[in-house]
Amino acid sequence: MNIPFLDLGAAYRELQTEIDSAVGRLLASGWYIGGPEVDAFEDEFAAYCGATHAVGVANGLDALQLALRAMDVGPGDEVIVPSNTYIATWLAVSQCGATPVPVEPDARTFNIDPALIEAAITPRTKVILPVHLYGQPADMAPILAIARKHGLRVLEDGAQAHGARYKGQRLGAHGDAVAWSFYPGKNLGAMGDGGAVTTNDPQIADRIRVLRNYGSRVKYVNEVQGYNSRLDPLQAAILCVKLAHLDEWNARRSAIAARYQQGLAGCGLTLPYVPDWAEPVWHLYVVQHPQRDPLHKALADAGVGTLIHYPIAPHLQQAYGYSGWEQGAFPLAERMADQVLSLPMGPHLETEQVTMVIEAAKKAAVTA
Ligand SMILES: *Cc1c(COP(=O)(O)O)cnc(C)c1O
Repeated sequence: MNIPFLDLGAAYRELQTEIDSAVGRLLASGWYIGGPEVDAFEDEFAAYCGATHAVGVANGLDALQLALRAMDVGPGDEVIVPSNTYIATWLAVSQCGATPVPVEPDARTFNIDPALIEAAITPRTKVILPVHLYGQPADMAPILAIARKHGLRVLEDGAQAHGARYKGQRLGAHGDAVAWSFYPGKNLGAMGDGGAVTTNDPQIADRIRVLRNYGSRVKYVNEVQGYNSRLDPLQAAILCVKLAHLDEWNARRSAIAARYQQGLAGCGLTLPYVPDWAEPVWHLYVVQHPQRDPLHKALADAGVGTLIHYPIAPHLQQAYGYSGWEQGAFPLAERMADQVLSLPMGPHLETEQVTMVIEAAKKAAVTA
């Protein structure tokens, strides 16, 4: 039996009746840009996140970029980012003409280490951009305290953490704004691209609404040079259906993670660490092993699909070659790139499949 890393078709099959009816309703409505489906999703998602505003955009990268632009980030500015993240976090900064300034993670949580942030602040720093990596909230309280002390904004990258809680409060408005992705494989995933920004700041929400629509509030009147980055109403209609199931699906992920934590304890893999203030949503279940590549292969041979998130740290990507960072510049991020492996995780992984993954991983950890 082969166990896929993630089965997106299973999510559709579970909700087929509801999704088909939402899509049919949208197609029959004749309203294909903006409109009531987008408004409804924005209202529901803002309420879910405990934020006063949600603004739908075309994807997660645009959510990050437009939020930074709404915070006036531009050429000459610096934005503090984690050294270990999906490259989109960095690209959003670069696309504004600003410079990403990497800070290493806490080795146990994978999230940006607040104790290292102040040393990276310069007179050019404008924003701190923590990522809630793998579905686990970053340690927001010290990050917000540093931002307050230095007069900086905080933008959170929530692309992997829909529904996660920090000290009991859902992510959505701890910082000045949160950027979300609805890429199909995320915990709340569309059937195509999608993104949003949540915020309690009416000015940020308003600026993103204008930026996403050609810089225009009134048709054919352009206040600024904006973008075409709108949330597709077809995706909004599907997202409304899926949002109603998000908590249940996150609970299934948590149950799987609990089985992994218990079943893999002591087998030689370094397992995820969860601080007591964090309620993660297990977008990914990431283990570490010094012999990651043989482990990856042994699991593949056993029919278990695993993935590496991510194999190359952003500072060593060719895309950032001009920055001059060398091997060794960010050793924790580099070690993670060498040692991390994501086990199968998703709301449709069956109980027996989880058992098989645990057995296969225990065996592979010994031979690797
Ligand atoms: C997926 C992801 C993004 C980008 O989202 P897209 O919708 O693919 O543009 C940004 N940051 C992180 C951490 C992600 O995982």
